Amino acid sequence: MRNIEHFIGGRSVAGASGRFGDVFNPSTGAVQAKVALASAQELDRAVDNAAQAQRDWARVNPQRRARVMFEFKRLLEANMDSLARLLSSEHGKVLSDARGDIQRGLEVIEFSCGIPHLLKGEHTQGAGPGIDAYSVRQPLGVVAGITPFNFPAMIPMWMFGPAIASGNAFILKPSERDPSVPVRLAELMLEAGLPEGVLNVVHGDKETVDAILKHPQIRAVSFVGSSDIAQAVYAEGARHGKRMQCMGGAKNHGIVLPDADLDQTVADVIGAAYGSAGERCMALPIVVPVGEKTADALREKLLAAIDGLRIGVSEDPQAHYGPVVTAAHKARIEDYIRIGVEEGAELVRDGRGFSLPGHEGGFFLGATLFDRVKPEMKTYREEIFGPVLQIVRADSFEQALELPSRHQYGNGVAIFTRNGDAAREFVDRVEVGMVGINVPIPVPVAYHSFGGWKRSGFGDLNQYGTDSVRFFTRTKVVTQRWPKGGAVTDQSFVIPTMR
Ligand code: NAD
Repeated sequence: MRNIEHFIGGRSVAGASGRFGDVFNPSTGAVQAKVALASAQELDRAVDNAAQAQRDWARVNPQRRARVMFEFKRLLEANMDSLARLLSSEHGKVLSDARGDIQRGLEVIEFSCGIPHLLKGEHTQGAGPGIDAYSVRQPLGVVAGITPFNFPAMIPMWMFGPAIASGNAFILKPSERDPSVPVRLAELMLEAGLPEGVLNVVHGDKETVDAILKHPQIRAVSFVGSSDIAQAVYAEGARHGKRMQCMGGAKNHGIVLPDADLDQTVADVIGAAYGSAGERCMALPIVVPVGEKTADALREKLLAAIDGLRIGVSEDPQAHYGPVVTAAHKARIEDYIRIGVEEGAELVRDGRGFSLPGHEGGFFLGATLFDRVKPEMKTYREEIFGPVLQIVRADSFEQALELPSRHQYGNGVAIFTRNGDAAREFVDRVEVGMVGINVPIPVPVAYHSFGGWKRSGFGDLNQYGTDSVRFFTRTKVVTQRWPKGGAVTDQSFVIPTMR
């Protein structure tokens, strides 16, 4: 059995804790590797290494740091296929989607190539008599990222791209369910010219995360995962004086107004609801048609599209989506479908019991569709994170607007319409962090920032874009005066002012 080791100080380091996690092949259901789970002592060694490496890395000028990012981007492109295969084999998403996962991370690396410009401070000449004021952005030191299973390439790059380009050293604690791609990314960063120890991958579980949150030398932690854990991690890290940003779960709504182009809307909703087996925080698991006529027409078209879906192993180029990540996750999704029926939603298509011939052990689920889901239902309120689409019928624009605004999560939302006035009103009033207008998955481009509202995000600076440069640096403001020789000013016991 293959062992997946840590990557510390520029080389593989075998786990010493005696603890291991299983890594499955979701298409077959078999355990394909064991991943080492780090103890606090192993983390200590990685942080010591990182702290040493960071001192020199911070002194490398920003343009040279950007060159490492450029070369890393080139290597990502050259290794795209092998990375995508590795990613699919542990996550289960189809190859084309795995490439998208890597590509969205690569785009943040492209953004990070602009670091010389992004780190520039501000300058005021003549802030007072002979006085200039300026600000500089300096790296924090050693920082850490804790990432979820569903984007094992993109989300690590969201974090380590801007952090490392800004002059920090990075400890990445990826998901223990698909840990191989993060290690490969660290190897490629080394090949791109990053000094040893600047990017370290320490595998682990809660025990490792707890050690990160307590570690006195780790200055900031970026976390992406489910909301309860995000909130607990946020509080614990803050208690230890760290700068924290923690992104949580989601339940995104797609509002369909009566004037929407229904064929285009159905194509968009189907892809966003079932792509990656619904295991995306920007998936669209709820669709809200406004008016019964829109709802009936939408339902009919959705059914036709669902019946045309092909579910297959991740290497199947014809498959629209693959298996979910583990048997436990599959069981959890099936449980939600059972609850949905019990609480009175209309089960229109049932994905339970789907089996792929030749891959009976794989963690596959067919596409599920519920209609007449109500806001008070548990299956509406909670994140299912699987190939389950729920129709919630609304009577009016106001009612449709209230649904995402009142939901506990506020990650993404989409509105489908041809009416610019309605769309503008929606953008203005909806209480959600990322909004799509006729765009089903409104993940912001790499030079904006990504973050949800309410229980989808804890902390005030978002992922990537200029927010992440602010998150991974601290500002120093300098006030300088160079008195002319001989011109001694009087003693003053009054706070200096600009009068
Ligand atoms: P998860 O919360 O189970 O795990 C996330 C990370 O936390 C992993 O590295 C895991 O090892 C660690 N972890 C697990 N249990 C822990 C505990 N008790 N204490 C401390 N750390 C712990 O999430 P997941 O299942 O890997 O990923 C899916 C979730 O992530 C979904 O809720 C999804 O919506 C969310 N997500 C959010 C975003 C976003 O940007 N908002 C993006 C992707 C995924």
